[in-house]
Amino acid sequence: MKIAILAGDGIGPEIVAQAVRVLQALRSDGLKFELEPGLLGGCAVEAAGEPFPEVTRKLVADADAVLLGAVGGPQYDALPRRQRPEQGLLSIRRMLNLFANLRPAILHPELANASTLKPEVVAGLDILIVRELTGDIYFGEPRGIERRDGQRVGYNTMIYSEAEIRRIAHVAFQAARKRNRRLCSVDKMNVLECTQLWRDVVTETAKEYPDVELSHMLVDNAAMQLVRNPRQFDVVVTGNMFGDILSDEASMLTGSIGMLPSASLDDRSKGLYEPIHGSAPDIAGKDVANPLATILSAAMMLRYTFDEEAAAVRIESAVKKVLAGGYRTRDIYEPGTKKVGTAAMGDAVLANI
Ligand code: ATP
Ligand code: MG
Repeated sequence: MKIAILAGDGIGPEIVAQAVRVLQALRSDGLKFELEPGLLGGCAVEAAGEPFPEVTRKLVADADAVLLGAVGGPQYDALPRRQRPEQGLLSIRRMLNLFANLRPAILHPELANASTLKPEVVAGLDILIVRELTGDIYFGEPRGIERRDGQRVGYNTMIYSEAEIRRIAHVAFQAARKRNRRLCSVDKMNVLECTQLWRDVVTETAKEYPDVELSHMLVDNAAMQLVRNPRQFDVVVTGNMFGDILSDEASMLTGSIGMLPSASLDDRSKGLYEPIHGSAPDIAGKDVANPLATILSAAMMLRYTFDEEAAAVRIESAVKKVLAGGYRTRDIYEPGTKKVGTAAMGDAVLANI
């Protein structure tokens, strides 16, 4: 088993270093994998003239999983589009055909005050949003801006094939099996034919998962229910555009961008794991960034690519203990807790592994 480590730019190297220490600790405890570093994003442009150089491409092709920090920064804004750091990330997604994006939104009880909602509404919140990532209105043809009858008209096409819906539905049902066996599929079938097909195919797929309870919800209602009573959800599956919006909405319920991991998977569970936040150039190199989102992304890697549930839970439990012990990086600090830097937060997690 091989893990490509692409730390990237900004705070990427600092936060990834802490996740690597955690993985190394588990390896010395018997888990078998190799960690191979590579360049992606702005650092790759500086070293090799392009954001996704050939050596990185080979590394990613040979790896079973990729652990990514973040790419980008203001110093790269003037580069031509094909040299922008973000192009490197888009190229990996395309190359690996990562069609399933998994974003947990978990509110750790110790951080309840950080939520935008009242503590009694969000206490114990633990949702997994499964977003389709390679289809929908973002990629559908035809698309464009044209002149018609003397004015400009813009248009995009929402399109999903049955096969695309079925494969994301399988990912969601399987994730639900690893959790509380409840899946809510979100669509807009009352006005969009494309999402009527979505609902039909998800319903057909459910026959293979009689142990998972399936429900359906219209997206406008889902957006409302997420802030009214978010704990009614376990796993949510939806298309690319609705998932884009709902996953950002859900992440705010937990209040802390520095805490949330993500996974992007292909159909054989080869995956890219990264925190949902960006490269945070404003705090790079200051040892204040929160490494927990990246450490929790490594836990998702062990769960989804390597099927090492016990090791994933070990990391997640260590993070819970560290929070219960009062350790906080600056972004989640409150009076009465212990403020620590990036590396010291890594130390605290390691001490609990
Ligand atoms: P991108 O376009 O790459 O998503 P962005 O500019 O939207 O980047 P981030 O880089 O995620 O946003 O930063 C948003 C804010 O959150 C910044 O103020 C940043 O310092 C803060 N932030 C992001 N990640 C962390 C972290 N791990 N720990 C602490 N603060 C963070
Ligand atoms: Mg952003």
